[in-house]
Amino acid sequence: MDLEIAGRWALVCGASKGLGRGCAQALVAEGVNLVINARSEAPLLQTASELRAVGAQWASATGQNQPKIAAVACDITTAQGREAVWAAAGGPGRDFDIMLTNAGGPPTGDFRGFTADDWQRAVNANMLTPIELIRAVVDGMAARGYGRILNITSSAVKAPIDVLALSNGARSGLTGFVAGLARSAIAANGVTVNNLLPGKFDTDRLNATLVAAAEKTGQTLEHVRHAQAAQIPARRFGTPGEFGALCAFLCSPQADYINGQNLLLDGGLYPGTF
Ligand code: NAD
Repeated sequence: MDLEIAGRWALVCGASKGLGRGCAQALVAEGVNLVINARSEAPLLQTASELRAVGAQWASATGQNQPKIAAVACDITTAQGREAVWAAAGGPGRDFDIMLTNAGGPPTGDFRGFTADDWQRAVNANMLTPIELIRAVVDGMAARGYGRILNITSSAVKAPIDVLALSNGARSGLTGFVAGLARSAIAANGVTVNNLLPGKFDTDRLNATLVAAAEKTGQTLEHVRHAQAAQIPARRFGTPGEFGALCAFLCSPQADYINGQNLLLDGGLYPGTF
């Protein structure tokens, strides 16, 4: 299926690794121009170079110009970081057609141990930062008649996990905001806003939690990996490529009627009917 998004411009945050990288790769494989962001420069530049190779393949297969890729190393949860992204992209709320918000998740732990500062950091990273990014781009998208905003949240929004108190709380705040925004006047102007809820995807972040679990229980990493995957009906973790494929589809005109949704990608782990 031609997703008809070649030549569009996308901002992909947290794109050097994991799910963000999977989304960036799926978009560039459709000929989308990218501004990608992550905190550390070296892995971001490495990813940018790999994405350029994907773009070159797309260009040679289609006979069209190679997609452009700009990389901005900064912390997207800070005002300075967002300024750096807008500056690289050509001014506040540059003409992005597509935006994926994403940043690292908050730490795990018992809520009794978290301070107000911990909560403020989590709310800033996983609620206020996406809202600030949306604020900068959404009206331009509506004025131009096309926009796709996707936020990576978590399956913990649908099925909260006690040790993820910071994530459960902060991401639920974003989810409530998005529910209202998606149904506002922007919906009649070609802009959709949806959340992607990952279950367990094979990324550095998941690996870090598996390593921690192995150390805590004294089991081998391989045992912990196998035991966790065995709990998933699909009997495996998801891949960033699978995640990116849904992202790219939701960015297409074909997905114009999917708006204000929380899309769970978890291999069937969530046990409910809805
Ligand atoms: P990852 O650690 O593999 O990759 C995270 C990416 O985001 C990296 O490129 C990193 O540099 C970048 N990043 C992190 N903080 C940033 C910041 N402040 N500013 C700019 N870039 C930043 O993680 P992942 O597994 O891809 O997870 C992405 C998001 O999805 C996280 O919020 C995570 O909590 C959430 N999530 C992941 C899973 C999973 O199974 N992997 C499950 C549920 C939720």
